[in-house]
Amino acid sequence: MHLNASGSRSHKIAKVDVHLVSTPVTGGLADATRKVECVGFTVVRVTTDQGLEGLGLTYHEVGGEATRALILNNIAPKIIGRDPLETEVIWEDLFHYLRGVGRKGLTFGALSAVDLALWDLKGKIVDLPLYRLLGGNRTRVPIYASGGWTSYSDDELVAEMQDMVAQGYKHVKFKVGVDGAANPRRDAVRVRKVRDAVGPDIKLLLDANNCWDAATAVQFANTVRECDIMLFEEPVLADDIPGLARFKRGTDIPLATGEHEYTKYGARDLIIADAADIIQIDGTRAGGYTEMLKIAGMTQAWNLKFAPHAMEHMHLHLVSAVPNAPFLERLRLFEDVTDKVFKDAPLPVDGYMTVPDLPGHGLSLDMDFIRDADEAV
Ligand SMILES: [Mg+2]
Repeated sequence: MHLNASGSRSHKIAKVDVHLVSTPVTGGLADATRKVECVGFTVVRVTTDQGLEGLGLTYHEVGGEATRALILNNIAPKIIGRDPLETEVIWEDLFHYLRGVGRKGLTFGALSAVDLALWDLKGKIVDLPLYRLLGGNRTRVPIYASGGWTSYSDDELVAEMQDMVAQGYKHVKFKVGVDGAANPRRDAVRVRKVRDAVGPDIKLLLDANNCWDAATAVQFANTVRECDIMLFEEPVLADDIPGLARFKRGTDIPLATGEHEYTKYGARDLIIADAADIIQIDGTRAGGYTEMLKIAGMTQAWNLKFAPHAMEHMHLHLVSAVPNAPFLERLRLFEDVTDKVFKDAPLPVDGYMTVPDLPGHGLSLDMDFIRDADEAV
């Protein structure tokens, strides 16, 4: 038995399991720049020598098998035998171990899922929900509904936004960039149709999914500003940081971006270039809670908003504890697989999600579903 400084038994990481859940997406869903063919989760379970289990997730549209192989073959041997409370040290070691093969992308999805599982364990070891461990007390988090594909007809788009409002959401997000991003005038008509359908009190969020250059995006934003747009997301290529800054100078619609950035270094580059009002970095890809806490602190120092992208159940406790986090995103595309992967995941009610008052993330996996899905991959 190992006794730590406070006299309690310390845990050692004993086992790492990884499961792939991939669901084909049919129906031709597309945004301005891509068609969605698959939604997949990589589910990581880290078990200690005393039988506690922590869970973490990342997601992918392609390449889940590579993430799984990296975790099982490379990351697991580096963390087995270590103390799961040492998240900072383990993160730093893994970052340097992996930095030559990727500081973004699938490599970081793998690292993020493992870090999230270690934070779940940390909460379970000290028997506290993560939001309490992080110093928060907000038990209900605002949540917005996200969908509205450019492949939808105008009627389908309006119907989905009205359905979200009927479910109690106060904020809804949809995509612009129809006809391969070649027809901003049509997009402006669609934005007006949605605004007229949902009325003046619903907050509208637009996502162009990287499709325009800065000049086109500024022109479009100034066309739709009369529709009272709360934020405009990824108006230009995510890597076009000068273009994002130019967009921000050209319109008063707040600029959101970051779902394609990784680590505190990616957040730093957006911030110092004045290329975002709302930072949407995704903790399931950008480095887990260990990195997201640093990114949240940077957004506070620059008086920006922190609104992590998607994967709401992995971000719920974090957002609860971060004062400048206005809300979380819930992707309609992920709802079905999310409901199957977790046994008891909270659902939004009237546009809010209640933070589970249980140790760690406060979630449990439906292993019957996950094992069946894993065998089918
Ligand atoms: Mg987006």
